[in-house]
Amino acid sequence: MPGGMPMLDCESVMRQLWDFLDGELTPERMAAVRAHIEMCKRCYPQHEFEQSFLDAVAARRRQHSDPQRLRRRVADALRAKGLSDA
Ligand SMILES: [Zn+2]
Repeated sequence: MPGGMPMLDCESVMRQLWDFLDGELTPERMAAVRAHIEMCKRCYPQHEFEQSFLDAVAARRRQHSDPQRLRRRVADALRAKGLSDA
């Protein structure tokens, strides 16, 4: 365990997960969230789930010019499954 890395609880990780997957956090935050996900069996499945969604979004983004609408649909799908309160 590297010293000085802030430990996050699951709730903070979940709140930052979208930004993490989008690469929009600071390098320190990215590292802290990644470290948590690698250790936490509760967060990891959700990370995998959202990453697969984002991969699909990224693939579509190259073909379509409406990423905002697509992203909202993805968020709605997650919420419907009870996986996100975003
Ligand atoms: Zn966790």
